[in-house]
Amino acid sequence: MLDNLSSSLKDALKKLAGKTVVDRAAVDDLVKDLQRALISSDVNVKLVMELSKAIRTRSLEEEPPKGMNVREHVLRIVYQELVRLVWASTEVKLEPQTILMAGLQGSGKTTTTAKLARYFQKKGMKVGVICADTFRPGAFDQISTLCTKINVPCFGNPQEKDALKITREGLAALKEQELIIVDTQGRHALEAELIKEIIDLNVLTKATHRWLVIDAALGQQASEQAKRFHEAIGIDGVIITKMDGTAKGGGAMSAVAETKSGIAFIGSGETIEDLERFDPDGFISRLLGMGDLKALVERANEAINPEDVDVNAMMKGKFTLRDMYKQLEALNKMGPLKQIMGMLPLGNMQLPEGVYDVTSTKMVRYRIIMDSMTAAELDEPSLINSSRMQRIAHGAGATPDEVRELIKYYKMMQRTLKGLRGGQGGGKFNMQRLMKRFSG
Ligand code: GDP
Repeated sequence: MLDNLSSSLKDALKKLAGKTVVDRAAVDDLVKDLQRALISSDVNVKLVMELSKAIRTRSLEEEPPKGMNVREHVLRIVYQELVRLVWASTEVKLEPQTILMAGLQGSGKTTTTAKLARYFQKKGMKVGVICADTFRPGAFDQISTLCTKINVPCFGNPQEKDALKITREGLAALKEQELIIVDTQGRHALEAELIKEIIDLNVLTKATHRWLVIDAALGQQASEQAKRFHEAIGIDGVIITKMDGTAKGGGAMSAVAETKSGIAFIGSGETIEDLERFDPDGFISRLLGMGDLKALVERANEAINPEDVDVNAMMKGKFTLRDMYKQLEALNKMGPLKQIMGMLPLGNMQLPEGVYDVTSTKMVRYRIIMDSMTAAELDEPSLINSSRMQRIAHGAGATPDEVRELIKYYKMMQRTLKGLRGGQGGGKFNMQRLMKRFSG
């Protein structure tokens, strides 16, 4: 889904992650990359400008929240702005209502009508469909066949040319149903007749919702369509179809902003089941290759108590085994390491399986081994020579190899911290870098 957009956004963020310092120049660079990525995926230029201005201003002016370094702060802003500006979600309620479907021919309107009927039916609602598309030959056959398959009553009359008459009769015939979806005609272009008819249908049906169906493959012209339909009937939700087949999608997404509404659903395939409720947080996180960044940000704030870790001392060069243990504990509190990794913005980086064992199984062993160390050794691990190693192993019922492994792990984290000291972050816990080192 949206592969081009996704990979160029990911590249922009990867570049940011690779920078030693996140300063004004780095933010400008990121903003340029984001602009390029969005514009080449057909996102409306005006929107891109608004979005990038917000990202730039907030990144440079806002203080990073407690427990977050500058890099994570900027990532978070990118994510929040994408969610906020373009891709809001539309509320979908399970209550009696009438939904009017708008869109041009070929957008996937008829298929989506059936998909929606299925969606609400599965939620336990009594659904009926009216085929008010008197323009396209075969429209009634298509929708009634789909409805028969799912056992949803479908009202229509292929001989009748008056869409208002059909709809009036349909509303009477389907009055037992809790939810009625009206599939309207969609011509190849936005003609005056089409617009007049949909305005009349909106009045007649007193529609609760007016949803616009847009093909994800449409480019910049999607905004124009959305604008016209919105002016006519007040679109209050958009359904983007064929998201499974496009690498760009920015045109349809910009159209959403035109309606000042949000995305209600996404069509992700040809079968009647291929309809997804739109969840902006999950969607943007996937687009940016971040797993669930929102969840991470929230959990990171909870788990990392600055008091637990003497960051200042570590940054000055002091990092003891005790510090390492505290860091592992902080990570451990956040949940299974494997799950945490899925939430980190590491792109597609593959980590060796052993990395995940560190907190889950080895933590306990590390604790036992550390209990056999003297206070001096814990504070100054370089004291641990091979005879001390033997003694510690013996005391902990462990092998010298296990002790060696713990020391090795400690050294790896120490190196990581050294690397961080040169960079940004003001002594804040930098999980992303830390995790990167775990893989090496
Ligand atoms: P309408 O003219 O707007 O009513 O469009 P249709 O519902 O007839 O759909 C046009 C074509 O798009 C059909 O071949 C559908 O199977 C296809 N289509 C609709 N939605 C999707 C979708 O989400 N994914 C894919 N791959 N195809 C879709």
